Amino acid sequence: MKVYNLCCDQDHRFEGWFSSEQDFLSQSEHHQIACPTCDSPTIRKLPSAPHLNLSHAAATGASTANHAAREDVAMKQNAAFMEMAHYVIKNTEDVGERFTEEARRIHYKEVPTHAIRGIASASQREELAEEGIDVVELALPTRLTQPLQ
Ligand SMILES: [Zn+2]
Repeated sequence: MKVYNLCCDQDHRFEGWFSSEQDFLSQSEHHQIACPTCDSPTIRKLPSAPHLNLSHAAATGASTANHAAREDVAMKQNAAFMEMAHYVIKNTEDVGERFTEEARRIHYKEVPTHAIRGIASASQREELAEEGIDVVELALPTRLTQPLQ
């Protein structure tokens, strides 16, 4: 399972989920990946990041119909998203508020490398970036935290 930070030609950043590097290359080649914000098929891959920062959509204040509609489009364009999000949740350690602390400990090799997810503010992510620690920001849809139908 591969998670890539992607960026369109208008500099909108989003995550792409692929079964393999090959899968990404093939979808990219056939312009099957579109920016969820502007629909641009011109997508490039940003440097990959080992750490995940999962923030809930609710926390970013997103309950407007507009956002819901955009989220829907993004979901359809990225049909595997939900499955992948579950995969991430199952395969990462939830360190919650300790995310930045734990990401640092991994970066400075104080603890063995492992996949973590948690909560970090924009300023905390900036601090991490300044230290050369990349994180992937992933806004989990609130419906993911509710029972599936
Ligand atoms: Zn875009």
